Amino acid sequence: MTKVGIVGGGAAGLFAACFLSGKKVSFEILEKGGRVGRKFLLTGHGRCNITNRKTPADLKNGYHEAGNFIYRAISSFTPEDAVAFLENELHVPLKEEDNNRMFPVSDKSKTILDAMISYIGKENITTGFDCIKIDRIGERFEVTSKKGEKKIFDSLILATGGNSFPKTGSDGSGYRLATDLGHDMTELIPALTGIEVGEKDRAFTSSLAGVSVPAGASLYYDSKKRASGEGEVLFTHKGLSGPAIRELSREIPRDIGSRDGWIELDFTPGRNETELDSELAEEILNKGNAKLTTLMGKYVPSSVAAGLGHRAGVSGIYASESRRAHRKACVRELKHLGLSIGAPSFEDAYVTRGGITCKELMRETMESKKHKGLYLIGEMIDVDGISGGYNLQAAMSEAFIAVNGICGV
Ligand SMILES: Cc1cc2nc3c(=O)[nH]c(=O)nc-3n(C[C@H](O)[C@H](O)[C@H](O)COP(=O)(O)OP(=O)(O)OC[C@H]3O[C@@H](n4cnc5c(N)ncnc54)[C@H](O)[C@@H]3O)c2cc1C
Repeated sequence: MTKVGIVGGGAAGLFAACFLSGKKVSFEILEKGGRVGRKFLLTGHGRCNITNRKTPADLKNGYHEAGNFIYRAISSFTPEDAVAFLENELHVPLKEEDNNRMFPVSDKSKTILDAMISYIGKENITTGFDCIKIDRIGERFEVTSKKGEKKIFDSLILATGGNSFPKTGSDGSGYRLATDLGHDMTELIPALTGIEVGEKDRAFTSSLAGVSVPAGASLYYDSKKRASGEGEVLFTHKGLSGPAIRELSREIPRDIGSRDGWIELDFTPGRNETELDSELAEEILNKGNAKLTTLMGKYVPSSVAAGLGHRAGVSGIYASESRRAHRKACVRELKHLGLSIGAPSFEDAYVTRGGITCKELMRETMESKKHKGLYLIGEMIDVDGISGGYNLQAAMSEAFIAVNGICGV
């Protein structure tokens, strides 16, 4: 009987094991940690946004540069297939929330993880196996652990995760297993993560920590606008987070510190500068007894208005005594709040941009073009999706086609 080894017991490895269950092969997950699915448990704030119920053609747009590569996988195992598998095979009922996001009805990632483990069978999961070396022995693969244990498999699925949230085991050590086998990798960048602002802006964001505001967010470095988006921006003790910022984080180069980078926030993306200026001028005329910061509060929460007013140098100034320069300063802070930034870290990143290059993988099966019988899936490859269930869907789809490749479907 064909023996399949799966290195890494995260989302991708676990789903691969699920799809291998019931096939005429034997399989074993080798996980270095004390338990499987550590990152999986954290997904969706512990609720697990398992997929996004869009068509593959729409879903594809959420995978940035890898959209064309991943299209084959997400068409072979679609979000609808994922819903059917979870509900009919794993017996986990799902519900749909805003923006087509799917969650377990229980609102607990653990419900899905427990269902997967019982579907796979505990006897097929080996924990505490830190794989440090893979050798080809003829057509087969010999896997060696840190403790010196050796196991031989006919086919091998590498699913060791990326570099993000390293405390969950996804600490980047798995990349070396693939590069030692001759695979190339692209630069790794933290993605879907918050951003630290520079020292001089820290007091401002820290004073607003916990406040979330809808805004436009643009990334600048080397004096050019590089990327932009719109959505909720959350102020934190160290800087900025929230969906609009998280989506921008993958565009920040690692050497941003030497490239004069900043984030510009626009709290009135629906109005251009002239419209905002005339609106404010009218308010100033009509509400002379109000402070300028109170008038700014029409556009942002009062705590943010106070912070922006302080930066604009208009704290305590009443509309009746304000000058044109005061009004212009208010408009500048509301439309062009510039905050200096540093390179984001992998510590709290949800995913990794970059990884093992997709060019060396067959998009129909995720099999390595360098080694027959070797499959690479999940966050370790150069595919990252936007938030909303895209990354787990990619892991499931890749696992599905890899298993089909192994079983010759
Ligand atoms: C806080 C957080 C929330 C998230 N929420 C969502 C969400 O709601 N929806 C969504 O789609 N995505 C979400 N993601 C992203 C998603 O979790 C990842 O895309 C997904 O877990 C990647 O799966 P993976 O199996 O490739 O890697 P991982 O889940 O990281 O698993 C890799 C596994 O391999 C093991 N391993 C590593 N090296 C070795 C080795 N040498 N030998 C043996 N084992 C090894 C690790 O211990 C780990 O268990 C979230 C991520 C985070 C951090």
